[in-house]
Amino acid sequence: PGKDSVKVAVRVRPFNKRERDAGSRCIVTMSSTSTTIQDPRNQQARRTFTFDYAYWSHSGFARDKDGLYVPEEPGSRYADQGHVFQDLGQGILENALQGYNATLLAYGQTGSGKSYSMVGYGPNKGLVPTLCERLFQAVGTDQDNRQCQIFFSMLEIYNEQVVDLLSRGSGSHPLGGLKVREEQQRGFYVEGLRRVPCESSAQVGQLMEQGTRTRTTASTHMNASSSRSHMLIILQLKQIFSKENITKQSNINLVDLAGSERQRSPGAEADRLKEGTAINLSLTTLGNVISSLADVAVGKRVVHIPYRDSILTKLLQSALGGNSRTVMIAALSPADICYEESMSTLRYAERAKRIQNRAVVNESPTE
Ligand code: ADP
Ligand code: MG
Repeated sequence: PGKDSVKVAVRVRPFNKRERDAGSRCIVTMSSTSTTIQDPRNQQARRTFTFDYAYWSHSGFARDKDGLYVPEEPGSRYADQGHVFQDLGQGILENALQGYNATLLAYGQTGSGKSYSMVGYGPNKGLVPTLCERLFQAVGTDQDNRQCQIFFSMLEIYNEQVVDLLSRGSGSHPLGGLKVREEQQRGFYVEGLRRVPCESSAQVGQLMEQGTRTRTTASTHMNASSSRSHMLIILQLKQIFSKENITKQSNINLVDLAGSERQRSPGAEADRLKEGTAINLSLTTLGNVISSLADVAVGKRVVHIPYRDSILTKLLQSALGGNSRTVMIAALSPADICYEESMSTLRYAERAKRIQNRAVVNESPTE
């Protein structure tokens, strides 16, 4: 099987109010697939990173009467949601229909635009809802000998605990605490996670809303901020081809990661310690796994890839160096005040870029 490197896209958002009020300067420029970042304290220091895509979503936008962010004028530079879907979402959709696993991860500091790209806000629909719409359209145009099933799951990892965002739970204990198990064939999975068969993208939309509400409630309950948890949506597509007697199965992981900023947690010291270790554990381990895989790719000898060290990396094992086509969006603030965090995001993305996966079509005789 061929090797696929992880695809990486960078996206820079408009200034937010805080940045405008602070009179921030934009320190990010883009040209074709390159992103250049300027150290605000040193004119001489700038670095250019080249990835698969660079999305300029900082300026050049207008908002239409529905509040949709669109390019100011045709051909202007602003990369809107449709543009990003066309590059990243469409490929994932096509891969899934062919029977490949696919993973899309959004990385970046809190407020950098991860959720905007992944889920979107209001009319500015992100990759996940658009992907679902197109997926149902694609399976709706029926090839007569194909039968499709789509399943939707949504979970949160907070403090190394798995919360099923679609489980109504028992009111007093919405936190789930589901176990991650491992099976030879299947790899790691969440035991007892709800897996809802879906018939339409409207139904998926409702489930996403339900999941988002549960996430808010759960974080209130745990006295936590959702910026510290990872949200993972799993779409499973099963295609049964009756004539050939073949079943193709594809898992799509859609991940809105916790904010990448160094955790400065308010609140009790005990909480801080617990969070400091556990929340960072999934994100730190992800970083370690990515670094190890990047080393493997450049031929360094690596004895051990620490997938087992955190929940997130267990669940994303196939996405990282395994059987999946994987895309990472690195979300950036444009502002000088975010220089350190943006630089660290770009370095992270640079390591992710080196990872080689080996994706295969998941095809087997229909049982
Ligand atoms: P994160 O999920 O990384 O914490 P959000 O996605 O919630 O950040 O984005 C923070 C704010 O910036 C939101 O108000 C969002 O609408 C806005 N924003 C983010 N990306 C874009 C973009 N590409 N175009 C316009 N607004 C954006
Ligand atoms: Mg978010």
